[in-house]
Amino acid sequence: MFELSERMKRIPPYLFAEIDAMKKKKLAEGVKVIDLGVGDPDLPTPKHIVSAMQKAVERADRQKYPSYEGMLEFRESVSEFYKRRKGINLDPQKEVIALIGSKEGIAHLPLAFVNEGDYVLVPDPGYPVYYASTVMAGGRAFFMPLNAENSFLPDLEAIPEDVRKKAKIMFLNYPNNPTSAIAEKDFIKSAVDFCIDNKIILAHDYAYGEIGLDGYRPKSFLENKNAFEVTIEFNSLSKTYNMTGWRIGFACGNEEIVKGLLKVKTNVDSGVFEAVQEAGIAALRGSDEFIDENCRIYAERRDILVDGLKNLGFAVEKPKATFYVWCRVGGSSIEFVKRILDGAGIVATPGIGFGKNGEGYVRFALTRSKEVIAEAIKRLERLF
Ligand SMILES: *Cc1c(COP(=O)(O)O)cnc(C)c1O
Repeated sequence: MFELSERMKRIPPYLFAEIDAMKKKKLAEGVKVIDLGVGDPDLPTPKHIVSAMQKAVERADRQKYPSYEGMLEFRESVSEFYKRRKGINLDPQKEVIALIGSKEGIAHLPLAFVNEGDYVLVPDPGYPVYYASTVMAGGRAFFMPLNAENSFLPDLEAIPEDVRKKAKIMFLNYPNNPTSAIAEKDFIKSAVDFCIDNKIILAHDYAYGEIGLDGYRPKSFLENKNAFEVTIEFNSLSKTYNMTGWRIGFACGNEEIVKGLLKVKTNVDSGVFEAVQEAGIAALRGSDEFIDENCRIYAERRDILVDGLKNLGFAVEKPKATFYVWCRVGGSSIEFVKRILDGAGIVATPGIGFGKNGEGYVRFALTRSKEVIAEAIKRLERLF
């Protein structure tokens, strides 16, 4: 009786929901499933962050509507964090806003700047929200293929002139989900220059900005000296501090873009619960040792998974960042995922779920203990 809007019909079902249904079926059959599918950290939020929330939640003044842009103290803690970790200066009053997780901000950005028929440049493969938010705002996606030959960076020269003219936003995401590729200074400069030349908003999703392995430090796009002219960077406490369920992130960078996003948000939500922001402040002002230790754990797991996959003959490299391993499997990625779920009880994410260009790859998430990952490798050895 109630037909979905044309817009919603253009958005495919959320991939992870389908995988979840397949997994539930296996569990119901009594299989001990190893889930390397969803990118949700298995380790707990650090204690000092939890305690900060516990204290704050009892305070009556923290139980009211928060401000739309986030508590000044939270925004100041973001600014201190960027200074300390990246050497970047952010004005907490004008260049930072709190988000209900970075996904929320990414999903709302096109509503602020995209008119019917405008292009949004979307990486393929990529986090599905870039495409969905483009469609919800009435925009058209122009897909930028990310290929192994180009280190999973888009070829900006290949974007046609007419698309450049009608493009409002370019989404980029480094360290990248799902390919775990990284962006270095030269590419960042070319992306910033491209967006300045073509008057395009550079929306950089930096959710894995603190998941650098073997001492590698992923670059913020705001490290580029001209980036503030066109860039909004989305960041999150979800992956950095194992806080996916808390729903807190932030956007920072160009004042005008941040303000545009805030205008949408003031009409949609009423900010982040202040007790959660207190937890965020404790996280961002806390010791960086937690970040190092977290990354050390992922690196150890990565070594077990990648070495095991290599032994089995898969073409796979050790990522320098993120907690994903992007593995070439050839052929249909869905068939491969079904095969390892059926034959070994292992959940992985088919590359095609991130876009046409992700076909032939599977993404494994390093969000299980090294013992469990070693067990997954044993099961795969029996299967292949
Ligand atoms: C996890 C993730 C996010 C969103 O995280 P939030 O929990 O909404 O802050 C954004 N982008 C990418 C690429 C992610 O993998």
